[in-house]
Amino acid sequence: MTLWQILSEAITQATGSPFTPADRRAAGGGCINEATVLQGTDGRRFFVKLNRPELAEMFAAEAEGLHALREPGAIRVPEPLCHGTAAGRAYLVMEHIPLGGPRDARRFGEQLARLHQCTRERFGWHRDNTIGSTPQINTWESDWVTFWRQHRLGYQLERARRQGGGRGLVQAVEALMEVLPAFFDGYTPRPSLLHGDLWGGNQDADAQGNPVIFDPAVYFGDREADVAMTELFGGFGPDFYAAYDAVWPRDPGYRVRRDLYNLYHLLNHFNLFGGGYAGQSERLARRLLAAARG
Ligand code: ADP
Repeated sequence: MTLWQILSEAITQATGSPFTPADRRAAGGGCINEATVLQGTDGRRFFVKLNRPELAEMFAAEAEGLHALREPGAIRVPEPLCHGTAAGRAYLVMEHIPLGGPRDARRFGEQLARLHQCTRERFGWHRDNTIGSTPQINTWESDWVTFWRQHRLGYQLERARRQGGGRGLVQAVEALMEVLPAFFDGYTPRPSLLHGDLWGGNQDADAQGNPVIFDPAVYFGDREADVAMTELFGGFGPDFYAAYDAVWPRDPGYRVRRDLYNLYHLLNHFNLFGGGYAGQSERLARRLLAAARG
């Protein structure tokens, strides 16, 4: 059987309604995977992500992440239908949502704050996942500083070291990891349900203007880490932050911690793409270090 025949059977099983493919189109825009919109003779559409078979676990984790984000009903998230390997490819099939509708930053800010109000006792998640294609470690911890030091900065730094990140970078981030508690004076983060990879490219709006988030790297962590990433490549506009704060105001120390949280993503960018991200990460780590030493 071809890949598309196997996927059609899997969709039939998952939806309980016979699916016969009529058309498929490559969907652009993804950074990591090959994406296709698959349409049936009955007009139903599905969004299919494909990659090498070794990456099947990445899609399993993504499917679980999408489920977790859908559960509170705070924000629209595509429903994952099935995943696995077929005809030498790993696949993930989900609900297709027509995107590109009118953006409503205010509604999005409110909804994200409501998502973050879903909390747990500890930081982490029941499984590891990926951030881009880099593994993301989600071992449960009751202490956020330990979690951020070990499973976020420490893990990315180790990969950066192996990829030739350079002594300056390694020394700066190691020194920063020593002084992490300084960033949490008078602030106790709660373990909130996070999207985990919330840059502008992973959010959009459906045809009715409902905010939609996708491509997550879910875990329970300080909500400021999600908000920080919205600012990494430009920011979502003042209405978004005002609406977020109206539901659950950020702590005044957010501004400094924002950079600490985005350092994780910059290190990951170095690990994924190399180049100037090493220097950018080192400069940021040194700035944070200076701030911590006051
Ligand atoms: P990648 O994991 O390769 O980065 P994404 O999950 O970000 O891929 O998807 C690539 C693009 O496809 C997104 O930028 C978005 O525009 C679109 N997209 C993602 N999920 C859906 C969906 N369920 N329905 C319709 N379009 C989607």
